[in-house]
Amino acid sequence: MSSYREPDDGGLARELRRSRPRISDEKRRKLEEYAAEIFTLLGLDLNTEATHETPHRFIQALIDITCGYEGDPKLIKAFNTECRGGSDCRLSQVIEGPINFFSLCEHHALPFFGQAYVGYIAHEHIIGISKLARLIHLFSRRFAVQERIGQRLADSLVAELQPHGVAVYLVARHLCIEMRGVRETAPLTRTTCWRGNYEDDPELRADFWRACRLKK
Ligand SMILES: [Zn+2]
Repeated sequence: MSSYREPDDGGLARELRRSRPRISDEKRRKLEEYAAEIFTLLGLDLNTEATHETPHRFIQALIDITCGYEGDPKLIKAFNTECRGGSDCRLSQVIEGPINFFSLCEHHALPFFGQAYVGYIAHEHIIGISKLARLIHLFSRRFAVQERIGQRLADSLVAELQPHGVAVYLVARHLCIEMRGVRETAPLTRTTCWRGNYEDDPELRADFWRACRLKK
């Protein structure tokens, strides 16, 4: 299988047009064979009516939940069409969330999932909630780490909206921690990412937290 290198410049346009090569039927059969071998060795009986198709379903599910690698053509025009215009939009804070996301941790290939809150201080451009959700899915529906989803989201918004600042807060449960019993309690993992005015304005960050809590 081809491997996908994460771009390090946050080039969103390229990211949106990205398309992983189609997985041929032959490759897919091979993947299903590997999956069958793993499941069998781990103890699953694949010779029942319920489990016979499990390797097939598993591979299809993996392909579906990593569709972020395929880009999102519907987002390409998102940023050009939502200009508010006028100069009175300066310094108005927009806060969106919670937006649910699901991802696979790149260390264990197990799910982590939670909610994202995004704040930004719009200059001329805004982005609607549905497109913001698509943007989060673009970066989360793949193998990832929580911090990186937040950073790439923040950097994309900075690049595309040219806002005065961006705040991203992600809170998630990591099944690689919870299911393996690494810890007795399973604390939520929280990551934050500040750009622009949020970096040096505690007041703004406080506003952001207040709005996030209200919306929970
Ligand atoms: Zn993990």
